[in-house]
Amino acid sequence: MSRTSPNIIITGTPGVGKTSHCELLAERTGLAHLSVNDVVKERECHEGWDDEYQSWIVDEDKLLDAIEPQLKPGGCILDWHACDLFPESWIDLVVVLRVETRVLYDRLTARNYPEKKLQENIDSEIMQVLLDEARESYDEQIVVELQSGTTEELEANVERIEAWVRQWREDRAKEE
Ligand code: ADP
Repeated sequence: MSRTSPNIIITGTPGVGKTSHCELLAERTGLAHLSVNDVVKERECHEGWDDEYQSWIVDEDKLLDAIEPQLKPGGCILDWHACDLFPESWIDLVVVLRVETRVLYDRLTARNYPEKKLQENIDSEIMQVLLDEARESYDEQIVVELQSGTTEELEANVERIEAWVRQWREDRAKEE
């Protein structure tokens, strides 16, 4: 698949700051922010609602079919709490956001998460589940772990990813 702009995944446990990073990055780079949660909901890529977890039961095949046309030419920032389902050939960079347990606890409490979901997400962050998933699913050279505890870190992360996008575009232009 030849792309004129890169596709980036911003992933991590719910509450780490994916949406905040994606929105700022989209504004600064012109890449499109694709909230996978919204796609699942709006394009009905699910098999119903899980009441206990307060989330959709995702139909992964349907989801991939729904986003493929947008991913194909490149230029997308995928925002989701999972990353292993996206084909490696679609993706140029995987950013895994991380945060301290104490900070994550406060952020998820503010969202009124059900107790079970809150505890599972805290455990998932402690066990670095998303980082392992990213490292197992993609070439380690394209996986980056970044801290997202403070607004200074958010700003620095976005600047760093922006610089990476600029470089990617320059390298691609030289090849043509
Ligand atoms: P996610 O999309 O991963 O669930 P959000 O971007 O919605 O996370 O962020 C969850 C909450 O944490 C929001 O209130 C957001 O403003 C805050 N937040 C996220 N990242 C940071 C950060 N690096 N510094 C300070 N607050 C942050």
